[in-house]
Parts: sequence; structure tokens; C-alpha cells
Amino acid sequence: MKKPEKSKMKRLIVQFGFLILLAIIAWQGLHRTPTLQSDVYPYLTSLSPALVKQCIDEHKISPTIALEELLAIRSTFSEREAQPFIEQLKNKVTFTKVNWGSVTNNTQEIINRRLEILNQYPFYQPYKYQFPVIGKTWFDNTFGADREGGKRRHEGTDLFGKEGTPIVSVCDGKIEQLGWNRLGGERVGIRGDDGNYYYYAHLQSISTELVKGKRVKAGESLGTMGHTGDALTTPDHLHFGIEIPNEQWINPYPFIEVWRYWGEM
Ligand SMILES: [Zn+2]
Repeated sequence: MKKPEKSKMKRLIVQFGFLILLAIIAWQGLHRTPTLQSDVYPYLTSLSPALVKQCIDEHKISPTIALEELLAIRSTFSEREAQPFIEQLKNKVTFTKVNWGSVTNNTQEIINRRLEILNQYPFYQPYKYQFPVIGKTWFDNTFGADREGGKRRHEGTDLFGKEGTPIVSVCDGKIEQLGWNRLGGERVGIRGDDGNYYYYAHLQSISTELVKGKRVKAGESLGTMGHTGDALTTPDHLHFGIEIPNEQWINPYPFIEVWRYWGEM
């Protein structure tokens, strides 16, 4: 009698183990971080706002040329080198038919890849994202600056203004973090539909309609500017941060600068 009991037990253990294995595979499948190619954000954040604004102005004058095409070309060549290619686009030559002359295949591949990134990640496209502050504000490119005497680095952009200045969401998404934390004070964290985490800190007050898990739209009110958390002794400002899906904070400055430009039009 003992032997069959033992083998039954063994079979149960094997089946149980198999189920656990399946559960682990399923869990990993659900929680896998989205694949993000490593060249995307280094390229996007390397674009100078001045260059993007130049391309926006050019696109407004020649609307048949896509902003992304102008950017891909102008970010690869000098002003003088870019001219013959921009001329072709102005003469209604489509991007895929551009005569690149003596440009190497390797460089052509770079341009095509840049165009692909710009089309896939619409940070510079008009009105896809909103400028986060409504009203008078000033800010600088301070990403990476020392904080707490070099103990940590500044992982965002500080937008200064008057206490109580309205703050809005830059994108559509879902509220992931809400309320108090030590450094951020009153803060709102939104998981954008693009997969990034958008962080708004030191708020004076958070909009009462906000609830964790609730969806928000670009331009929707999040609260007002203040100096809560570790900003207690500093002038009122919004600390704005962007964390990409591989958990790396990127420099939001060029994006914000361009969003403001679109907002002023
Ligand atoms: Zn800051």
C-alpha cells in the first residue's frame, strides 16, 4: 500500500512545481518592462531647443515638409550641408526620394533612424504634450547639477514662479503616486500613456479631484506651485521629472522649452 501513495505524492509535487513554473512565466510576461532601444532618448534629449524651434518655424512656412524630416536632416548636417536636401523637400521631392549625393550609406542610415525615432516619440510634435505651468514662469537647464553637496544629482527641471500658479499634466495618463513624500513634498506622479513616469513635486496644494489610479488628460489641473518637501527653504517652484521605462531619469529641459514654444503660438 505504501508504494502507490509515494508515487502519487511524487506526481502531485511534479504537477505543483509545473504550475508554479507556469505562474512565474505568466507573471514575467505581464510585468516585462517594455523594450526601449538605447539610442532613442540620447538622441531626443540631445536636440537643442533652438534647432527644434528653427525647424518648427521652417515647417510653418513650408507646411508640406514634415517637422520630423527637417529635424532629422538639420540634426545630422551643418546648416550649409543641409541646404541642398531641404531645397529638394521644398521642391516637393518626398523624403524617400531625396538625392543624398555623396552622403555615405552609414550617414543615410543614421538620418533614417532619427526620422523613425522622431515619428515614434512625438515629444516635439505640436500639441501632443502640454507645457506644465499656466502663467508666468522661468526655468533653466540644471539637469545633473549637484544637490546636497554632491550627494545626489538634480534629476529634472525646476520651473520657478509665484506660489499658487496652476500646474497641469503634460500628457494623458494615469495617476500612480499622490500626496506627501519627504523630498518631493506634495507630489503627483503620472504614468503617461507613452510608458514614461512624469513627476511633479513641491506643490502647494494638489487638486482635490485627483485619486490614485484615475485617468488624467493633458492640460488637466494637478494643483498649484509651492515649496513643500525639501524645497521648504527655496523659492517656489515646480520640480518636473521624466523617468523612462528603464528607470532612468532623463533631461526634460529640451522638451519643456519646445512645449512652451508651441503653447505660445
Ligand atoms: Zn528640482
